[in-house]
Amino acid sequence: MPADPTITGFTVRDLRWPTSLDNIGSDPMNLAGENAFGYLQFQTDGEHIGTGWSFSNGQGNDVLCAAIRSLAPRYVGRKLSSLTANMAETQRKCVSGQVRFMSPERGVLQLACCAVLNALWDLWAKVEGKPLWRLVSDFTPEEFVRCIDFRYITDEITPEQALEMLRKQAKTKHERLDLATSNKAVPAYNTSIGWLGLSDDQVREGLKKAVTQGFKHFKIKGAQGVEADRKRLSLVREIVGPSAVLMVDVNQIWDVDEAITYMKNFSDLGLWFIEEPTSPDDVLGHAKIREALKPYNIGVATGEHVNNRVMFKQLLQANALDAVQLDACRLCSVNEILSVLLLAAKFNVPVVPHSGGAGMVELCSHISTIDFVCVSGKESILEYTDHLHEAFVAPAKITDNGYHVSPTVPGYSCDVKEAEFEKFEASAGSFWQAEQGRR
Ligand SMILES: [Mg+2]
Repeated sequence: MPADPTITGFTVRDLRWPTSLDNIGSDPMNLAGENAFGYLQFQTDGEHIGTGWSFSNGQGNDVLCAAIRSLAPRYVGRKLSSLTANMAETQRKCVSGQVRFMSPERGVLQLACCAVLNALWDLWAKVEGKPLWRLVSDFTPEEFVRCIDFRYITDEITPEQALEMLRKQAKTKHERLDLATSNKAVPAYNTSIGWLGLSDDQVREGLKKAVTQGFKHFKIKGAQGVEADRKRLSLVREIVGPSAVLMVDVNQIWDVDEAITYMKNFSDLGLWFIEEPTSPDDVLGHAKIREALKPYNIGVATGEHVNNRVMFKQLLQANALDAVQLDACRLCSVNEILSVLLLAAKFNVPVVPHSGGAGMVELCSHISTIDFVCVSGKESILEYTDHLHEAFVAPAKITDNGYHVSPTVPGYSCDVKEAEFEKFEASAGSFWQAEQGRR
């Protein structure tokens, strides 16, 4: 029997990588971003530490770390089993209390709740000796449903309907588990060739490498003007060939009608979707753009800034999406992600998680595998960016035919190597103390 550790204390650390120096993550809205984690660890009286983090950008991490510090003390003294026996209740309690008034199930508090719950899931999976995706894949439908807070979504999916969906998939689950254990569950798509700050030569070199790595899906940042975007997309198409799938991401830059007018210029380039064409909160705006671009064969995707299951429910109800781009740290951890996987499956829209920042591929390779094995039962794709994997104890990897390697190390792949903190913890790390970092 696995041990049942008690949480004895916690640490919250502010980790920031100077990714802006390499133009990593550069897009129309965020020209210079520093990938950052509010990094929480729960110490226990057992052999394992539970690690969880949420993602932010540079200075935003000041606020994120403060929010995590305000929540974490609630868990000290708790036995793990008292929290995992009913994970739906654990999620609901996490988003409750006086701080809920600040911004219920959204904003920085949602990110902080995510870090806390990520740490609990990581600890749970470590104690069970399984990678997180396998822990969840081994759940019965009843155990799966017990992790989800259905409040606010029962008008679209009830626990009973979820059970029915999961039981149907459970009949063929063993076939998909075989594919997952042989790294044939989650094809990767490439964003690393698409950052705005890259030169044509860098894009060309990156694409040649990506094609040999087996990638068949590519995404570039756009909104640089119709001619400039067309030139970049044509360059990509020339190298990847006519059968590859192309996507464009503009990170919320346009008004609704502006998005429609602009994107009509690209009907001949075989684009799957335009990502985040407008404000992430504009449910009906996304629906309008999608309807208007249908005759031009361009779909619409969003989700990396969608903060909770209610927003995804509305986007799906409004027929606003061709891909659900949930973010592993924008929603309230695995709990809420499971509810969004079910909603997406109900509406028959593929889940294509956002993982364009440090550590996100590490987390989302668990999530996409769960979707494939337990929920949708269908192959989708998952973003792959090739920066900072070396910082992780259990780094994400891809196969030589363009699939994500299913994680094998017990836990949720959250642990960052200690050497990264020596260099990049803000503000004591050696990089931030040196002249370049101070500047
Ligand atoms: Mg994006």
